[in-house]
Amino acid sequence: MSTTHTPIVYTPGVGPERAAVLTEELGMRTIVDLIEHYPFRYVDKRAFHTIGQLTPHSGEVQLKGQITKIEELGSPRSKRLVATFTDGTGFLELVWFKGAKWIRKSLKMNVPVVVYGKLNEFNGKKSLPHPEISDPELQSSALEPVYSTTEKLSRKGLHSKGLAKIIQGALQKELGNIIDPFTPAFCAQNKLISKAQALRWIHAPANAQQLEAAKQRIKFEEFFFLQLTQVRNKIKNKTALQGYAFAEVGQTFLNFYNHHLPFELTGAQKRVVKEIRADVRTGAQMNRLVQGDVGSGKTIVALLAMLLAIDNGFQAALMAPTEILATQHYNGLKELCDPAGITISLLTGSTPKADRAAIHQSLQDGSLQILIGTHALLEPTVKFANLGLAVIDEQHRFGVAQRAKLWKKNEHPPHVLVMTATPIPRTLAMSVYGDLDVSVIDELPPGRKPIKTMHLFDKNRLKLNGFMKQEIAKGRQVYVVFPLIEESETLDLKNLQVGYEQLLADFPRPQYQIAVVHGRMKPEEKDGEMRRFEEGKAHIMVATTVIEVGVNVPNASVMIIENAERFGLSQLHQLRGRVGRGSDESYCVLVSSYKLSNDAKTRLETMVRTQDGFEIAEVDMNLRGPGDMMGTRQSGQIQFKMASLVADGQILAWARHVVEQLLQQDSQLADPNHAGIKERWIALYKHQWGWNRIS
Ligand code: ADP
Ligand code: MG
Repeated sequence: MSTTHTPIVYTPGVGPERAAVLTEELGMRTIVDLIEHYPFRYVDKRAFHTIGQLTPHSGEVQLKGQITKIEELGSPRSKRLVATFTDGTGFLELVWFKGAKWIRKSLKMNVPVVVYGKLNEFNGKKSLPHPEISDPELQSSALEPVYSTTEKLSRKGLHSKGLAKIIQGALQKELGNIIDPFTPAFCAQNKLISKAQALRWIHAPANAQQLEAAKQRIKFEEFFFLQLTQVRNKIKNKTALQGYAFAEVGQTFLNFYNHHLPFELTGAQKRVVKEIRADVRTGAQMNRLVQGDVGSGKTIVALLAMLLAIDNGFQAALMAPTEILATQHYNGLKELCDPAGITISLLTGSTPKADRAAIHQSLQDGSLQILIGTHALLEPTVKFANLGLAVIDEQHRFGVAQRAKLWKKNEHPPHVLVMTATPIPRTLAMSVYGDLDVSVIDELPPGRKPIKTMHLFDKNRLKLNGFMKQEIAKGRQVYVVFPLIEESETLDLKNLQVGYEQLLADFPRPQYQIAVVHGRMKPEEKDGEMRRFEEGKAHIMVATTVIEVGVNVPNASVMIIENAERFGLSQLHQLRGRVGRGSDESYCVLVSSYKLSNDAKTRLETMVRTQDGFEIAEVDMNLRGPGDMMGTRQSGQIQFKMASLVADGQILAWARHVVEQLLQQDSQLADPNHAGIKERWIALYKHQWGWNRIS
């Protein structure tokens, strides 16, 4: 039987009872699961401290000396065992609050012992509560692994030390059977140690070099197999999947580009359009991610790509995650398309039945060229005559399966362009969208002034109101945004209600007009209020995060975010991106209470410090971790046992590079030298084939 499947119960020292708890508590089933339970830190048992050197910040310390006195102190109710310990440089107390009777028996006086524990200093008196005591003869000269465990496991003797013992047993039993997917030649070429060596060293490193080599090897392997899937899919899309060739740039594109483009494209936009053009002309299916900061102008790039489809006799679709955003896209694009004679429609959940039928009809007879919409586009009744390009905006909000649905609307896959709402860190992009080509719009349209961002505490509201009035007097408009977090939706809604009423009192009609939009409103109501604001009839827009994505009102120059401490960084950045779209000076005010967690402080400080979405994304990933950042839908791809997308970007880039070279030489992994890699990869990813293609 292959080692990978040997049940955990056969590990020396485990047995049925412990096996059951290991499965229950840590999800371990096989011996390999146990072997891959890596230490989360190490204790350096090589170094000794001396009592004379200790400071209150010494933390965990190891001392060599002897016990000179043992006594029981305290009342019978709260007894403690106290041993006086000295190493010749001073004294400290070893203290036990529990198990005194048993420990007392095991303690030996006036013989050399090694003690280890966390230093406690109280009123200048040093002590080690519940220290570990060992015989200097048996002292390990290594970095001692510390394993995560649980209370239940500890009760079965599987505390960190107990786990260490059975893991060593597992290694002894199974190490010889573990297959290294990498050949010795491959390891040598890439300066990696063998798998067996890495597993041995990770659980019992003799020194820091061994530990480092083991970590590198394990992290590399984790990244390697993820990248193998991603890069292979990317190559497969390019070679095997027949796409549509948009051979020519025709009249629709040229006419629009020369006569209807409302502004000159930025250099970055031009470059990305060229990259798209190069993709779609080949006949291979395009899978491209466009990364760009808020306001960098992704929409027009998408439109130009759609015109390429139209020029070649195809239809194009654009899917957005919310109705408001889809409607905005539609309104904006319709204004551009109408004069150029391009047909465009909007399909959302609230499109009336009659309109729906007309849209279905025009889609199928091919007279409709561009369809904008929400998830409604995915319904089976929506059939295209020939969908050539699918654009997915705010890509992270859609699951992989949802995107696959759009992709399956044709015999051949359409070209796919996905756009992020805000940038994501490079390591994350490489992992989650590693099978896509990536374009970056790293330039904002000209004339944008930096948005002045400040953090304000609640009680300065009067000043804030004065400032808002000033801006409104200049003809500007103001957003006031309240958080809406699902779990406490009712409470949040009340916040918004209270805030709204306060604003009504502070900004009385008819001089001031306030629009309000929140998730519980009917679509018609929302539309009406949005329109009032867009048309400049309302001075203030009070909203929950529904306006988070995509809303575009260039005259709005102030973004006020209430309870800003409750928003995530990318949300804050998105919201701020709603202003600064015109040529006026614009402002973002983050209002918070005084009580701020450290993370919240970092978020607000980051917002005040920088406006660079790529930088903000890095901070965000550091704070939240990659899994949270992408949402659960895609987090499966970024869960590693040891590697971290936050800390190990270099290893990731290196692994990807090695994978690219490997597949260039041997795209099918047919070389017998690569058999190990192929086998391991198939075992890992078999179940994901198919839908993974456009992830
Ligand atoms: P995002 O990348 O956030 O989706 P949009 O596509 O909504 O950005 O563009 C933001 C705003 O910038 C829109 O009002 C758009 O018309 C404008 N815009 C885009 N590109 C340019 C450009 N090259 N020059 C001037 N304005 C531009
Ligand atoms: Mg956008």
